[in-house]
Amino acid sequence: MDIKPSPVQTDGRRTIGSYWEASLPQPRQDRQLHGNAFFDVAVIGAGFAGLSAALRLAELGISVCVLEAKHVGYGASGRNGGFCCLGGTKLDARQLVKKFGLEEARKFLAFQVAGINLVAQRLDSWGVDASRHSKGEIYLAHRAKDVTGLKSEAEFLRANFGIRTRLLSREQLTEEGYGGPSFHGGLHVPYGFALNPMAYVQALAERVRRAGGKIFGKTPVSAIDRDSDRWRLETKNGFVRAKNVVLASNGYSDETVPPWLHGRTMPVMSSIQVTRSLSEAELAGQGWTSDTMAADTRILLHYFRLLPDKRFLFGTRGGIFENAPSLSAMQKCARADFESMFPAWSNAETDFSWHGHVCIARTLTPFVGEVPGLDGVYAAMGWHGSGVAMASISGEKIAGLITGKLRQTDLPAPLQRPFTRFPLPALRKLYLQGAYWLYGLKDR
Ligand SMILES: Cc1cc2nc3c(=O)[nH]c(=O)nc-3n(C[C@H](O)[C@H](O)[C@H](O)COP(=O)(O)OP(=O)(O)OC[C@H]3O[C@@H](n4cnc5c(N)ncnc54)[C@H](O)[C@@H]3O)c2cc1C
Repeated sequence: MDIKPSPVQTDGRRTIGSYWEASLPQPRQDRQLHGNAFFDVAVIGAGFAGLSAALRLAELGISVCVLEAKHVGYGASGRNGGFCCLGGTKLDARQLVKKFGLEEARKFLAFQVAGINLVAQRLDSWGVDASRHSKGEIYLAHRAKDVTGLKSEAEFLRANFGIRTRLLSREQLTEEGYGGPSFHGGLHVPYGFALNPMAYVQALAERVRRAGGKIFGKTPVSAIDRDSDRWRLETKNGFVRAKNVVLASNGYSDETVPPWLHGRTMPVMSSIQVTRSLSEAELAGQGWTSDTMAADTRILLHYFRLLPDKRFLFGTRGGIFENAPSLSAMQKCARADFESMFPAWSNAETDFSWHGHVCIARTLTPFVGEVPGLDGVYAAMGWHGSGVAMASISGEKIAGLITGKLRQTDLPAPLQRPFTRFPLPALRKLYLQGAYWLYGLKDR
C-alpha cells in the first residue's frame, strides 16, 4: 500500500496527521451522545486505558459507555511510537526497590510484562496483525561513559529480577545493524514488540462495541457531579447517570473533570517524525538495518525504529507550549537530532510529523484506583510516556476493582498511590522549562 501524507482534516476522522492514520482505512465514527442515558459505568476517554476497562466490564455483562471528546485513538493511544514495552514510571529499577522494597518492585515488573503479554494475546486472538515486529528493545549509550551505567543496570536486573539482558559492544552494534556515530554500546532487554498503535486501539474499540459497550464520539464531558446515589456526567447535548466513573483521560485531562485532578498531572509533549521509505543502499550506508525498537540513554530520550515499509520513525520528548511557533521549533530540533544521529539519511525527507501529550505525575508513578473522597470514581492514568502495555492492563484492573474481583491492595504498590498536587500548579510549565534545561545539560 502506498501511504501518503494526507492534509489534516478537522472532521473528527483525520485530525492527527500521523503515519498511523494514513496507513489505515477510515475508522468507524461513533455518534455523539444526544439526550440522557443510564449506565452502570461511564468511562471518560477512548484510549487504551478507557477501552480496556470498558471491554472487560462489557464482557462481564455490565452496562458501560465510553465518552470521548473527539474520536477513538485521538489521544496518545493513536499517536504514540508503538513501542509495546516495559515502563510506566519515571523511577528506575533501583529507585523502585528503594521506595517500595524488592518484593513490590518485582510485582510491578511482572505487571508490566503481563501488560505486554496481554496486548500480544489480544492481537493474536482477535486476528489483528498491527504490523508487529521487533523482539525486545535496545537501549543505546549516547556517550562512552554511559556504557558503564548500562553494565551496572544489566547486573542489577539480573541479580534482583532474574532478567537476562544482553550487552553489546560498539563493534557488535555495528555488526548487528545498529550503526550510528553516537552509539557507544547497547543493552538489549528481551521484552516487548512494536505495533501500529492506531490499528490496536481501533481493534480494541471494535471489541468493546461487539461486547455491548457503547462508545460516544465528539462527546466531551464538561462536569461530574454527585446526583443522589449516582454520578452525573454533563455533556453538550445530554448527560449520563452512572454508578461508577472511570477517569481515563491521561495527558488530555480537563483539570476540572473532576476538580480533584486540578494540579495533579503534568501533560508533557512528545513528538514523532517518520521519513520516506529508505532504500537498501541507504540503510546499508548508515549501517542501521535492525528492526528492533531502540532508545538512547538521554533523560530527554530519543526513541526510534525501522518500520516494516523501511520508513524510519524517530521520536523525541520535549516541547512545552502547543502553539504553532513552539511546535515548529520542536519539530526542527527533532529533525536536527535525527540528522546528527543518522547522518547518512540527512536527505531522507520527513513525510509525517505529529505530536501528543503524555502524562507525568508528581509521584512519578501511575495511579490505578478509586479517587480519594469520590466514592465510585476510579482513575487509571499517569503512564509517564509508556502506556501501550501499562494502560491496557491497568484498564482491565480497574474493571476488577469496580466489580470487587480485585482489591486495591492486590495491585503492585507503585500503582496504589493517588496523585498528589504539584506545588503552585499554575507554574508547572515553568518548572518543566527549568527541568528541560537541566536535563539538556545532563544529557551532553
Ligand atoms: C508522541 C507519543 C509517543 C509515545 N510513544 C509511546 C510508545 O512508543 N510506547 C508506549 O508505551 N507509550 C508511548 N506513548 C504514551 C502512550 O501513548 C500513552 O501512555 C497511552 O496511549 C495513554 O493511553 P490512555 O488511554 O491512558 O490515554 P489517551 O490515549 O491519551 O486517551 C485519553 C482520551 O481522553 C479523551 N478525553 C480527555 N478529556 C476528556 C473529557 N473531558 N471528556 C471526554 N473525553 C476526554 C481524549 O480525547 C483522549 O482521546 C507515547 C505518547 C506520545 C504522545
